[in-house]
Amino acid sequence: MRALIIGGGIAGSATAIALQKADITSVVYEAHPAGADDRGAFLSLFVNGIDALQAIDAHEPVLERSFPGSRIEFTTSAGKQLASARLDRDVHGYLPGPRILKRADLCGALQGEAERRGIRVERGKRLVSARRTPAGRIVATFEDGTMDVGDLLVGADGIHSVVRRTIDADAPSPQYTGEDVVCGYARKAPVLAPPETFRMIYGKRAFFAYLTTPWGDSWWFTNISGLDGSATAPSRDWKRLALERVFSDVRQATEIIQASGDDVIGIRVYDMASTPIWHAGSMIVIGDAAHAASPNAGHGAAMALEDSVLLAMCLRDLPDIPKAFRKYEQLRRERIERLVTTSAQMRKRAIPAPLQRVLRDFMLPRLLKNGPRNAAPWLTRHHIDWHEKVAAQ
Ligand SMILES: Cc1cc2nc3c(=O)[nH]c(=O)nc-3n(C[C@H](O)[C@H](O)[C@H](O)COP(=O)(O)OP(=O)(O)OC[C@H]3O[C@@H](n4cnc5c(N)ncnc54)[C@H](O)[C@@H]3O)c2cc1C
Repeated sequence: MRALIIGGGIAGSATAIALQKADITSVVYEAHPAGADDRGAFLSLFVNGIDALQAIDAHEPVLERSFPGSRIEFTTSAGKQLASARLDRDVHGYLPGPRILKRADLCGALQGEAERRGIRVERGKRLVSARRTPAGRIVATFEDGTMDVGDLLVGADGIHSVVRRTIDADAPSPQYTGEDVVCGYARKAPVLAPPETFRMIYGKRAFFAYLTTPWGDSWWFTNISGLDGSATAPSRDWKRLALERVFSDVRQATEIIQASGDDVIGIRVYDMASTPIWHAGSMIVIGDAAHAASPNAGHGAAMALEDSVLLAMCLRDLPDIPKAFRKYEQLRRERIERLVTTSAQMRKRAIPAPLQRVLRDFMLPRLLKNGPRNAAPWLTRHHIDWHEKVAAQ
């Protein structure tokens, strides 16, 4: 069996590694000429994401490029602490906390690991269409006019997936949430968060979060809502916009943003409540191509990794591709849709109206008593045993 994987991001690279472990050959086609889009954003990879990587022995390069973030603090802009919680704790006790790293480094680590294992990664190859031959094979056509043929095609091509539309012409489009995340890196910022701690500041109009790396930089992000949805992200002066939003509201944030370089980026936030059709024939979508949660729960990458490993296990153990895809969906859909809903609820809490703000500040310590939502047991305690056989039913 030969798989064509579209997208060499998190899901695509991990799928190639997992398929190889299941004795399935694949080739990865990545549109970006140098490896990864959105070079600037950073993310937290919770323990369930690391667990998925461990199942395919691919966790070491990710651990090497990341650092731990095991605490979270919520404060008001006046410095009053609303709540604090350990990210390595849930109602059942302690578990490893999330690892923090830049998304591009995560993609780079996984692409590098795939290539180290002899998997072909073709860069600068943007899929434009895919079709099924009468014999049931898949022909993929790329923007440069080249083609390839495989037995199955995995669409790991992110939120604006071409494969999703190929599988279902009526597939829903991702919805702009009305929010943009601005993210940057400050060297020698005058304010530092305690080690391994995310500090989240709720201002009256702005929300700002930062943490300090082991080498003393401050990595930060702020959510901006109410922008004109039509402009594309790179066309704005994000540093100036972020400063305008936090100025006179979150003083610490102003100092950190001012200490940042010019690599401040803005990322448009989308979500898709549900994608009804994930697969047709020998084509399937996984990762953000199938389910994009707003980033508030911090689990999109971890879910993409779980998808990759479980898809490979289904293809390894079930007798044909449609059966493997059906089983995969049965294993994944409920969990993923629960994450999308949880993340959307968390987004609404970030900058509420004044009355809701009072309620939030009252409720937050109580909600966090057993750890934050994104350390909830159903999310983080997910475990994949590579040696467990996937049963057809
Ligand atoms: C601001 C922000 C913060 C986030 N924070 C977190 C976090 O803290 N924790 C977390 O777990 N997740 C986080 N996420 C979510 C996470 O980044 C995504 O869920 C994850 O990247 C999904 O991986 P993917 O491989 O499915 O898609 P992507 O990472 O988007 O990869 C898709 C790849 O496909 C390529 N591609 C696209 N179209 C084509 C084509 N036609 N042909 C070939 N290649 C193509 C792209 O270039 C890209 O490399 C965040 C997201 C955002 C926007």
